[in-house]
Amino acid sequence: MNRLAVLGHPIAHSRSPEIHQDFAQQFGYSIDYQKIDVSPGRLGDQVSELVRSGALGCNITVPYKSEVVALCDHIAPEAQAFGVLNTLKFSDLGSVTGYNTDSAGFMADLLHYGISVTGKRVLLVGAGGAAQGIIDALAQQAPSVIHIWNRSPERAIALAGRLTQTSVSAKIADDLDPGYEVIVNASAAGLSDQVPDLPASIIKNHTQCYDLSYRQDGTPFLHWCDNLGAAMCVDGLGMLIEQAAFAFEIWFGEMPNTQKLRARFDARPLKTASPWRPE
Ligand code: NDP
Repeated sequence: MNRLAVLGHPIAHSRSPEIHQDFAQQFGYSIDYQKIDVSPGRLGDQVSELVRSGALGCNITVPYKSEVVALCDHIAPEAQAFGVLNTLKFSDLGSVTGYNTDSAGFMADLLHYGISVTGKRVLLVGAGGAAQGIIDALAQQAPSVIHIWNRSPERAIALAGRLTQTSVSAKIADDLDPGYEVIVNASAAGLSDQVPDLPASIIKNHTQCYDLSYRQDGTPFLHWCDNLGAAMCVDGLGMLIEQAAFAFEIWFGEMPNTQKLRARFDARPLKTASPWRPE
């Protein structure tokens, strides 16, 4: 039995166990994947306990994606710039390697929905762990600009400063452009049923809106975008499935098929300009 877990606080809402059970079944593996609610200050003890128990690895979620960096013996090269990790793999000798699969999962989901940022004006909302994890991948697609807005402006400035591309800059609400082509909400506002305090002018009828948060009845941010006439409104459920597939590949060396699970979880846009046909 391969022991795995997701560590976070709170953690009850996590769908990771279901997702990884589905992937394991695809390859005939037997896994024991637990949700572990880790109280503040106990992350190191919990990771050590998993390593001692012979676990294969674990996922790390809010609020521990930054804190976990200090617990790793090695960090995968592609995750070194992020400062946030969401997947750990334990070696037989007990060393811990950290990875970030959020970025690859996010890009896979954009591709799935046909959202391209190349040459587009992009607004990234938020500057926390998720935004840090996806901004490099966004910038690599060569959008014409990436503006970053965050509730605490100093974090947006720090995040923009990490990138070398001159097209990336931090903005306050008054300086945002009208009608971005793509808006990515990587804030956690939806977790408290809120919408980031942004001007309605950022949305026009060509705007494609992506919210990393997900909710069966649509997130508050996506409902706000929809009401303002956005062209497309997609939540992060597909990203959750895709990032999990990359984590599974790190642990087992096999890439699961995500299409059936996407259909079973009903991962589809809240709104799209063209009729949506699930696979
Ligand atoms: P963090 O706690 O690291 O960062 C939270 C971010 O949200 C900060 O930028 C914070 O701003 C902002 N924020 C929080 N509340 C509000 C609010 N009321 N109004 C405006 N901004 C707010 O969280 P993460 O970055 O890790 O996660 C962000 C979201 O992304 C979560 O909802 C999470 O569930 C989702 N996510 C989804 C994934 C998926 O696979 N679909 C993967 C990863 C994350 P400030 O700096 O001012 O505090």
